[in-house]
Amino acid sequence: MKINFIDLKAQYADYKSEIDSEVAQVFSTAQFIGGEKLNSLEKNLADYTGVDYVIGCSSGTDALLLSLMALDIGQGDEVITTPFTFIATAEVIAFLGAKSVFVDIEEDSYNIDPTQIEAVITDRTKAIMPVSLYGQCANMDAINEIAKKHDLPVIEDACQSFGATYNGEKSCNLSTIGCTSFFPSKPLGAYGDGGAIFTNDKELEEKIRMLLNHGQNERYKHKFIGINGRLDAVQAAILGVKLKHFDKEVKARDDIGTRYNDLLEDANVITPKISESNTSVFAQYSIRVEDRETMVAKLSDKGIPTAVHYPVPLHLQECFSDLGYKEGDFPMSEKISTQIMSLPMSSYLKQEEQDYIVEAIKGN
Ligand SMILES: *Cc1c(COP(=O)(O)O)cnc(C)c1O
Repeated sequence: MKINFIDLKAQYADYKSEIDSEVAQVFSTAQFIGGEKLNSLEKNLADYTGVDYVIGCSSGTDALLLSLMALDIGQGDEVITTPFTFIATAEVIAFLGAKSVFVDIEEDSYNIDPTQIEAVITDRTKAIMPVSLYGQCANMDAINEIAKKHDLPVIEDACQSFGATYNGEKSCNLSTIGCTSFFPSKPLGAYGDGGAIFTNDKELEEKIRMLLNHGQNERYKHKFIGINGRLDAVQAAILGVKLKHFDKEVKARDDIGTRYNDLLEDANVITPKISESNTSVFAQYSIRVEDRETMVAKLSDKGIPTAVHYPVPLHLQECFSDLGYKEGDFPMSEKISTQIMSLPMSSYLKQEEQDYIVEAIKGN
């Protein structure tokens, strides 16, 4: 059997008539930047998450960058985050001349360990940036409590967790700012790059809207140094269609993730643990194995693609060598990064495909 890691073609086939018609409207009105499709998407994203203000932007990376810019984070500032994440989280911190201060992760959730945060707070700390990895929110209550005590903003890197819930609240609505990505393979994916920023703070919203449009407050009047970080109308139109079907997809992802967990219970692997307070969107379905190389090869021989998110924790990346970290500094992140691997996952994964994958994992 030949299995897709994610089946975006099957999804397009399902929504084709709606998507084609929405995109055709954008083409015929020639409103390619801004306009009605973007405005209605932002409103629908606000309704979906319960957040007051949503700003579409060009990618998850730019959502994170714009959030830090809006909080005036730059040279000499420190931002606390996790080393077990995609590069973008810490890349944007460094890009602004600020410094990532890493805190190790919890063994069960793979998210930042709140009990280790306070020890690294200094008078240069300007924000805490937890990541809700693999589709499960970080322990936001504990993080927000620490942030409140030290008067720090919290930016949730929700690039993998749009649609997840934490104590019944939606991801992206759990902190000062939430940032998500609409990269095609994310749970809510565009047909190109895209992202969104979520906040309940009107001042931040206004500033972010200026920053993503070259810092303009009026046409050709520039209050801030900004970027071109806009979400285009074609992507907004596509996302608008997909958002209508999103709850159904989240439910399917949850069923598939839960079914993987059940089927793999007696296998020699560690399955994801979703805490009582969370529902996960399973942006990745990632298991831990003792001998990853052998498992990857075994599955590959049977036509099953896998991926590793992420093989090298950020404190050991060459581009961050100036931060001065060394091997052994974040033992949990280092251990998990050698064991973790992701299995095929999308709302289109069929039961027989899943059974075949599980058989392959359990077999010799
Ligand atoms: C995907 C991702 C990003 C970046 O999103 P892009 O839209 O690709 O720029 C940032 N952080 C995490 C955790 C991600 O998974």
